[in-house]
Amino acid sequence: MEIVPGIHWIEGITAHCYVVVDKELTLIDTGMPHKTKKILKYITDELQRTPSELKTILLTHCDIDHIGNALELRNLTGAKIAAHPQDAEIIAGKKVRMTPKGGMRILFKLLESFMRVKPFHVDIMINEGDNLSGFSVLHMPGHTMGSIALYDSKRKVLFIGDTLGCRDEVVQSPSKSVTMDMKQAYRSIEKLKDLDFTVMLSGHGEPLRSNASAKVTEFINQIKNIEATR
Ligand SMILES: [Zn+2]
Repeated sequence: MEIVPGIHWIEGITAHCYVVVDKELTLIDTGMPHKTKKILKYITDELQRTPSELKTILLTHCDIDHIGNALELRNLTGAKIAAHPQDAEIIAGKKVRMTPKGGMRILFKLLESFMRVKPFHVDIMINEGDNLSGFSVLHMPGHTMGSIALYDSKRKVLFIGDTLGCRDEVVQSPSKSVTMDMKQAYRSIEKLKDLDFTVMLSGHGEPLRSNASAKVTEFINQIKNIEATR
């Protein structure tokens, strides 16, 4: 489904997977494993493009529901995979993803042992301030330490990964149970205050389709008010 001109949401893949159509194709996140065919079919049937036109796969962070098809897609298309170095280490199997404190730890461990992807190396390391395939990179530690947001200044769209969500056009907090460091996540979110974007696309939930930066600023002010009364 085309959300704004040139940005498509491939539905039916968890977590959300977006294709950005320019001269080249760019994929933002890849969903849970076993969806490679569905992604390639979208490229050939819906976009009428060839898989080899997919040049870059940008991963917002290391969680399995975002990286699940990246390796297979790279093998099939020749695309390069990009991620933040801190999460690239986890993707490569050199480090384990830290689990949030509290009751979810056991569930998380259990899930981790069932759902594994083969570790793989990341081709391109991207850091705060970098530009790749038309996107500016913002480092947003919190949900994971190498979480990033990707800003398309031409289309005024922000890809936020799991750092924020949206329901009924309202900004949602990152999920506490799977966020490594909530305080850090909130500090990262504050970085969005001066960014100008109309649409925000996250890893789960619905697209935030209008006045997105104003709504995120409102959310930041709410957090600050809550913190001030503590
Ligand atoms: Zn995640």
